[in-house]
Amino acid sequence: MAELAQVESSDKQTIGRFLKFSLPFVAVHLACLLVFVVGFSWFAIAVTVVVYLLRGVGITGFYHRKFSHHAFKTGRTVQFIGAWLGTSAAQGGPLWWVAHHRKHHHTSDEQGDLHSPKVEGLKVAHYGWLTRESADPCHLDQVPDLAKFPELRWLDKFQWVPILATAVGLFIGGIFIGRAFSWTGTNGPQLLIWAFVINTVVLWHVTFAVNSVCHKWGTREHQTTDDSRNNWVIGLLALGEGWHNNHHSFPGTSRHGFRRRQLDFTHLVIRTLKKLGLAYDLHPVPARLWLGSKSSRWTN
Ligand SMILES: [Zn+2]
Ligand SMILES: [Zn+2]
Repeated sequence: MAELAQVESSDKQTIGRFLKFSLPFVAVHLACLLVFVVGFSWFAIAVTVVVYLLRGVGITGFYHRKFSHHAFKTGRTVQFIGAWLGTSAAQGGPLWWVAHHRKHHHTSDEQGDLHSPKVEGLKVAHYGWLTRESADPCHLDQVPDLAKFPELRWLDKFQWVPILATAVGLFIGGIFIGRAFSWTGTNGPQLLIWAFVINTVVLWHVTFAVNSVCHKWGTREHQTTDDSRNNWVIGLLALGEGWHNNHHSFPGTSRHGFRRRQLDFTHLVIRTLKKLGLAYDLHPVPARLWLGSKSSRWTN
C-alpha cells in the first residue's frame, strides 16, 4: 500500500514537472513557427534587439553579476528594475536562479553541479537539468542576502507577472504603433512573436550555452579547478558572459572580459550606470589578471 502511494506520488511529480517545465518549453519553441504567419518588419527586428538587450542585461548584469556575485552595488529601485527585467526573461525567479548559480560555483564540474557537461553530458548541461526534480527547490540558505528584500521574494513568487506584462505590453504596443505609424509595417501579433516568443527562445539557449558550451569549447587562459572556457561567440551573444574561464578564475568582477578586445556589453552597461550615478563600488579585475592595456580605465 505504501509502495503504491509512493508510485502515485512519483507519477504526480513527473506530471507536475511536465506541465510546469517541458510543456511550456516545447510550446514556446513551437510558437516560433508563427513567424511565418505574422511576417517580418525591420521595426519588429529593432524592437526585438532592444528587448533582447534589456532582458539580457537583467540576467547578466543583475541576476548574475550583481545578485550572484555582488560585483557592483545599486540603490534599491535600480536593483528592482534589474530584477524585473531578469524575471521577464522567463528563466526563473531571482532567488531560484541565484541559489542554483552559486551552487554551480561551489561544485563546478564536480558531483553536485547540476549542469556540468563533464559530469552528465552536453544535453543535460544545456537544458536537461531543468527537467529534473533536483532543479525545483529554491535553496533559500544560499541567498539570505537577497531573501531579506520583500520585493525580490515577491518577484520570485509571482515571476509570471513581468513575463505576462512583457508579452501583453508588446502585443498592445504593436497594435497601437501599427495603427498610429503604419510606415513601421508592424502589428501586435508580429511584435509578440518576434520580440517576445523568438526573443525568449534565443535568450534561453544563449544562457544555457554559458553552462554547456562554455564548459566544453573555447580557450583556457586561467588555471581553474573546473573546465570553464572563454568562448568569443557566446561572449558576443551572451553580452560578455562567454568569457567564462575569466569569470571562474575571479567570479566577483563586474567585467568578465579581461582583455580590451574581449567585448563585454554588460560591463559597458554597468559602467554607464556608474557614470549616471546609478551604480557604484564596481569590483575591478585584479591587476594580476588584467590582460589589457596598462590603464585601469577599462577594469572597473
Ligand atoms: Zn560555469
Ligand atoms: Zn557566476
